[in-house]
Amino acid sequence: MPDMTSEVATKPVDAQEHPLPWASGLQALGAPYFTPTLPTPMGPAHWVSQNRALGRELGLPDSFWDDPMSLQAMSGNAVWPGSKPVASVYSGHQFGVWAGQLGDGRALSLGELETPMGRQDWQLKGAGPTPYSRRGDGRAVLRSSIREYLCSEAMHGLGIPTTRALALCASHLPVWRETAETAAVVTRVAPSFIRFGHFEHFAATGDTGGLKGLLQSVIDQFFPDIARQHMPIEQATLAWLQTVTQRTAELMAQWQAVGFCHGVMNTDNMSVLGLTLDYGPFQFLDAYDPDHICNHSDHQGRYAYQRQPQVAFWNLFCLGQAVATLVGETEPVLEALNTYKSALPNALLTRWRQKLGLTMAEGADAELVESVLDLLSTGAVDFSIFWRRLSHAVAQSARPAQAEHAWTPVRDLFLDTRAWLDWENRYTQRLGGQDRAQTGVAMLQVNPKYVLRNHLGETVIQRAQTGDFSEVDNLLSLLHRPFDEHPESAQLAGFPPDWASSIAISCSS
Ligand code: AMP
Ligand code: MG
Repeated sequence: MPDMTSEVATKPVDAQEHPLPWASGLQALGAPYFTPTLPTPMGPAHWVSQNRALGRELGLPDSFWDDPMSLQAMSGNAVWPGSKPVASVYSGHQFGVWAGQLGDGRALSLGELETPMGRQDWQLKGAGPTPYSRRGDGRAVLRSSIREYLCSEAMHGLGIPTTRALALCASHLPVWRETAETAAVVTRVAPSFIRFGHFEHFAATGDTGGLKGLLQSVIDQFFPDIARQHMPIEQATLAWLQTVTQRTAELMAQWQAVGFCHGVMNTDNMSVLGLTLDYGPFQFLDAYDPDHICNHSDHQGRYAYQRQPQVAFWNLFCLGQAVATLVGETEPVLEALNTYKSALPNALLTRWRQKLGLTMAEGADAELVESVLDLLSTGAVDFSIFWRRLSHAVAQSARPAQAEHAWTPVRDLFLDTRAWLDWENRYTQRLGGQDRAQTGVAMLQVNPKYVLRNHLGETVIQRAQTGDFSEVDNLLSLLHRPFDEHPESAQLAGFPPDWASSIAISCSS
């Protein structure tokens, strides 16, 4: 193991030694989309965590991590030979209001690499100011960087489309938020970080050529099924909009099903690839509360848990409006967007059915789901623990020796026993003759034991702020496999402590 905490001073770069074959796919578009921008050194840097598992998926040899240049480049203290870092311009709607030009204020794309996972853009988040930083310092603090790093990988572990996090570096560089904190840089990886806001930008500035050029390149590189049809731009735009709509619906269903609240669903934080993007004040629900607001700055509850699917639809309308000029007519744009109205409920119901272990669809399933969610909400029942215990109950009800007590741990979650028993009865009838053992196993594969609850992140952050990063790695490997039992970590799957509800997370990070 390398010494994770040792500081490495800036070292001259040897081009022969580091042959990462940087290329530019979308970035070859150049201006006005991308502006060359160098990272700003953060002073002597140290590793907080290396995601070697993702490194292997990307085809990086283990020696990559031991190379001092990797730390230098991933902290923004140096640039890999051949990499030409750029920042991109976008605009967007923030909290329902047009915010004008935004852009990568603290993110830089280093370039793209061909990997076993396909072509991947590598970004540094927090590597200093860019032409789009506005009044910001271009930095990210250790606290928020640990959250982004862990949650990206937690979402991946849950099977939810997301940008990935490859490494986390930090230095003692002071960064001022509400108090003095220190800087960190996350290296994040995705096929593309293109957002709804990129399209809104070129529409709002009246640059139809720019809009068309961007859409054509995005389709060519990331939507091969549409590209190979060589349609006129009007039809390609509609096909693309409908695909983005479907992916967004699917993503929302996946978020809702694990109780994930994003917290800042502004259009500049929405990926056109349907990835979860930009982890700020996110939260996994503890007690089930459909009105839960995880962002301390979201006073109106615009981005409350149960509003997320509706907000995504609103955001899709912003995207539709942006690309409508390429179609010419409004009606087919609305038609493409309105496919959300069936895609979302279908995707959601599919996810809830999976969570309930129902293999076949039946007409009354939506009502069965609604009624259990009502019970969870009324009883403020812990969301993740409920689904996990339900899964175990179904699995155990298959074994005669355990069947009698199988349901007790679930029943114990509800004060209103009668209401619960009523639902349990309907549910077991609905399960009917389904093989319980098999059903239980399937449910344990979709109802995670471990989610990145706020208090788990907070505990790791507090340790890290004293220089002990070991828990970051421990939690990372646990969250990579959230459906496995990991009995040695069972305490991390328990109810949140009382202090968890007082954690306040806002946009400032
Ligand atoms: P967010 O709410 O984190 O998605 O950020 C919204 C916009 O503000 C984006 O354009 C970010 O790049 C920018 N931004 C956020 N924090 C900073 C910062 N510390 N320095 C510069 N720009 C920032
Ligand atoms: Mg953002």
